[in-house]
Formats: sequence, C-alpha cells, structure tokens
Amino acid sequence: SGNGIHSPFQDFLEQLHQKYLPLRDGTPYLSEPDLVEINPDWFGICAVTVDGDVYAVGDYEQPFLIQSISKVFAYGMALSDRGRDYVLQKVDVEPTGDAYNSIVKVEESSKRPHNPMVNAGAIATTNLILGNSPAKRLNRVLEMYKRFIGHKVFVDTPTFVSEQHCGDRNWAISYLLRNFGMIEGSISETLDLYLQQCSAIVNCRDLAVMGATLANDGINPMTGTRAIAAPYVRDLLSVMYTCGMYDFAGAWVYNVGFPAKSGVGGGIIAVVPGQMGIAVFSPPLDKRGNSVRGIKVFEELSQRFGLHIFDPT
Ligand code: GLN
Repeated sequence: SGNGIHSPFQDFLEQLHQKYLPLRDGTPYLSEPDLVEINPDWFGICAVTVDGDVYAVGDYEQPFLIQSISKVFAYGMALSDRGRDYVLQKVDVEPTGDAYNSIVKVEESSKRPHNPMVNAGAIATTNLILGNSPAKRLNRVLEMYKRFIGHKVFVDTPTFVSEQHCGDRNWAISYLLRNFGMIEGSISETLDLYLQQCSAIVNCRDLAVMGATLANDGINPMTGTRAIAAPYVRDLLSVMYTCGMYDFAGAWVYNVGFPAKSGVGGGIIAVVPGQMGIAVFSPPLDKRGNSVRGIKVFEELSQRFGLHIFDPT
C-alpha cells in the first residue's frame, strides 16, 4: 500500500505497518461514550522531508483530532504574541513526570504550571494568545494551523461541545490557575479556545507537514510559507524533547531520541531537525495516553536509521 516515493525508507515504513497492524493493545480515547466511531485498526504513517518528499503508508489521510499535539503550536503562538520572557513567567519548561491532566503540581507549587505540553501549562499558554474577541482568537489559531499545514482546518463541533461538558479536570485546573494569577480573564473563554484548538481535525500527512515545517526552521517545505519565526522553533523542539510524551518523556528520549508530541486522538508528531517531520496515527492508547503502535513505529525507525540526536553521524 505504498503511496510515496520508492526507497528503503518507504519499504521500511510498509514493513512497520504490516508488522504492527496486528498489535491490538490499548484503548482509543473518547470524551464521552459512543460519541463517534473509532476504528482501532486505523493506522497511518507519514514522513515529509525538508525538501518536500513524502513517504506514506496506510490510513494517512484518515481525519482525526489533533488534541494535545495542538499544545506545541499554541506555545509557538504565545511566544510569538508575548515574547519568551513574558511566557516564561506564566509557564515553566520542566517535565512533570505526572499524567497529562494532573492537577497536583499546580497546587503544590502554587506558581507557574510546569510546562506547556501538559494540560495545566497548555491552558495557561492558550490564555496568552492575543485577539480582540473569542472568535478572532480562534481564527488566529486556525490561521496558524493553516500556515503549518498548507490548507484550512476545521474544528469538530461535537467533540468541542463534549469536552466542554465532560472536562471537569480542565475546569478545576483553570480555576486553580486563575487563583494563582497564572491566567487572566474569563475562564470559559480560555478553556473554550483550548478545547477548540484540541478539537481541530487533521490527518497523518498534515501532522508530518507540520513536523517538517519545524524541521525546516519554521518554513513549510510544501508551500514555502513561514509558519513561525525561526528563533522560536528551538523553544518548541526543546519542550517537545523534554515534555512531549507526558510521563513517558524520559523513556522516549532514551529510546527514540528526537522531539515529539502525542495526542489522545492517536497521533504522534515528531521532528528530526534539519531532516524531516514524521507522524503516526493509530487510536489505541496506553495508560499514559500515547499511541501504542505509534511508540513501536518510532522506536524501530529511530534504531533502523540512526535518528537519535545523539547517534554518531
Ligand atoms: N482535550 C484533551 C484534554 O484536555 C486533550 C488531552 C490530550 O490529548 N492529552 O483532556
């Protein structure tokens, strides 16, 4: 089922797809029972190089929710809108070792959320995005996605509404953050924007292009458009590297060794700096909220092609 350029890399992606399709561990995420049908066997892999070459296999065009992968790009917007120093006063860059939706460290430290890749930090990040109204802020987020992807993306309204009504932890985190002065203004406006940014629909190829844009210093290799100012790309890759896989971040760095971010929609986006963006989509998640097949694919890809950033060149 190869759809990209024929090469040893494409061949290996096809082998990985065949090898891990029968792996049926994990459970897909649903914000509420029976909201949508999710096929646990959806499985796509896509890589896009900084030269715009595309390698793809499986369900790489199947639409799904960007979810927490949005946190990387929202952080980029906050940095662009407010500058690094101001953003660092509101969100730190330390890994938590806790679950993505944990509230404990927010209360414990009574200060900045630990990092922008977990919910607490991401809600504080989204609160920093500029715009004169909720609709204008949402439009700015969607325009930013468009620069990274190359085409317009849309918010899945049923998912957004569902997460608004089933997201008690996110409400609790938001109130606590405002109590500590880490977010300002209307909680529901901030949380709405956060949940809308999470409910954007993408596919595996879109994520690979977004990753390739980060691999290419912020210029989308398919369109030639700059998606983010170059100095911030390093910041995004740093927090992805240390915090992108939640409480699996350490093992990920050890075994895979390049920056990545997962989302409960089943996507994992990864960046091999200067070379390519790689994305895997497979909905069943492990207990930490990372795609089971996704982790396997990245571990093998990193080993086979020596992609760990500390591998000898
Ligand atoms: N919308 C989800 C939440 O906030 C996103 C979480 C995720 O992908 N880890 O709970």
